[in-house]
Amino acid sequence: MVAYWLGLLVLILFLGLFPPTAPWSERFLTPLVALVGGGVLLMRKEAAFGLGLLFWGLGDLAWTLEDLTGWSRGLYLEFPYLIGYLFLTLGLLKVSASPPRLSLGLLPLGLLGLLSALQPKLGIDRIYMVWDALLLLLLLPRLELVFQKGPGGRALWGVGLLLLLVADMAYAFLEAAGGYPTGHPVHLLWTLGYLLLALGVLEERKVRASFLGQALALGGLFLMPASLVNDPSPWEVRVLALYGGLVGGLGLLYANYLEWHRTEEKGLRWTRFLEELARLSPSVTQTLSPEALLMGALEATRHLLPTAVGLEVRGRRGLVGERTPYALTIPLSGDAAYLYLQGPLEESIPPGFLSLLGERIRQVLRQVEWGTLALTDPLTGLLNRRGLEVELPKLLALARRYQVPLSVVMLDIDRFKRVNDTYGHPVGDEVLRLLGRILKASVRQEDLAVRYGGEEFLLLLYGAGREAAKEVVERIRYRFRSQRVDPVPYPLTLSAGIAGGEVPENEAQVEECILKADYALLRAKETGRDRVTLA
Ligand code: GH3
Ligand code: MG
Ligand code: MG
Repeated sequence: MVAYWLGLLVLILFLGLFPPTAPWSERFLTPLVALVGGGVLLMRKEAAFGLGLLFWGLGDLAWTLEDLTGWSRGLYLEFPYLIGYLFLTLGLLKVSASPPRLSLGLLPLGLLGLLSALQPKLGIDRIYMVWDALLLLLLLPRLELVFQKGPGGRALWGVGLLLLLVADMAYAFLEAAGGYPTGHPVHLLWTLGYLLLALGVLEERKVRASFLGQALALGGLFLMPASLVNDPSPWEVRVLALYGGLVGGLGLLYANYLEWHRTEEKGLRWTRFLEELARLSPSVTQTLSPEALLMGALEATRHLLPTAVGLEVRGRRGLVGERTPYALTIPLSGDAAYLYLQGPLEESIPPGFLSLLGERIRQVLRQVEWGTLALTDPLTGLLNRRGLEVELPKLLALARRYQVPLSVVMLDIDRFKRVNDTYGHPVGDEVLRLLGRILKASVRQEDLAVRYGGEEFLLLLYGAGREAAKEVVERIRYRFRSQRVDPVPYPLTLSAGIAGGEVPENEAQVEECILKADYALLRAKETGRDRVTLA
């Protein structure tokens, strides 16, 4: 809306500076704008549109000179226009098109040209009228993008070319209807058309049109009917120009509305991204694995970048999704972190997006690290009692859902005090580390291995009945026994008690099993150690 009013203001100023009734404005301003615009486009390597404008400007200049000097208009004066048409056509053909739908509403504007082409009085100008209609046909599928994606530079040059075509057809029409007076406002369309075409071609490179660009486009369309209401103009010209202004203007407003809608949608996507990122934490993912957190971060990212397919923090922290050659570097202090996209980045990413993502990833990864530290025993790397409290409910839920038995094993190293007393605490620690390694290697992924007390260990074996549990423990006992810790010369042994072996009902039942296993362990100790006892 603001753009619209600004467009009007620009036009009023424009009209004030160059009153359409001033003949010099038509004679010199119009070719000047075309020549300068064409020159600038050529310098910016926009050859086709640049040469188009340049040759049309030369044509206009020749016409002016012809008028001023009274030369008769020779056929050679037509060449600049024809060459200009050729280059404008080439320029249009180079621009990508989509099937016209909304832009088809502008199609009847071509009628003006076709009607003029039927006037024998117009002579060679009839070729131009047909070519104008052809250019309009080429323009519509290229304007469709404006209706679909919102105004950009294309709205600007689209409107510019539209003005040129309509002005050209209107000229011919007026001429056929008995001539037009010098300084008729229709020539202003012509000048403005040159201006918008040059500005728009430059602007389209920037992807998004500036505010002023949109305002000019809207203003130009507004001018289309306004400048044609003066007499003498046949009613056909008036109706078509009015119609063109209306349809084009409505189209641009609609595109503006779409743009606004998209902005709102973008805001929503940002909100969703931020919400999901804020919700990301180890407690939500139910696991302490960095991968689960990275997965969450990747999913949040997809709200803003739907083509994101992988996220990686180099080192032991891991990769989720897949690696692609299209990587964005995430700022993450000390770590190399990348976001992988399906293809090359198409639209610019929101500012601050990557830093925000990086900062949040750093926070949750640190949470994972602290969490891991709080729940594991530093000496053996097994779960500690707190870790058991956190993990037991999950294991219990799993066992109950799939009706799988759970066995509880309590282990204790035999005569461990003697190792400590004889060889010192560091050797005792080494023994504990060894048993930790053996336990980890001997149980399955779902099982829990816990350092329950000083040299007492608890195993929760998922899916194992008592007999299966006994086999596992025997294996552990054998492995422990067959390894030596320097300088202890004798084989170390352990005793174990096993309880449970059924599908657990609740946590209290598991705790009761732990007591029973402890009791069974005591019996193993009493009956001579180095053995496994069932509760
Ligand atoms: P038993 O066969 O009856 O189990 O005899 P034991 O000597 O192993 O007796 P007990 O289980 O009472 O001994 C526990 C010892 O474990 C006492 C303590 O010094 C030692 N201990 C507990 N935690 C640690 C530790 O972190 N490092 C070391 N080196 N020793 C520990
Ligand atoms: Mg002991
Ligand atoms: Mg003990």
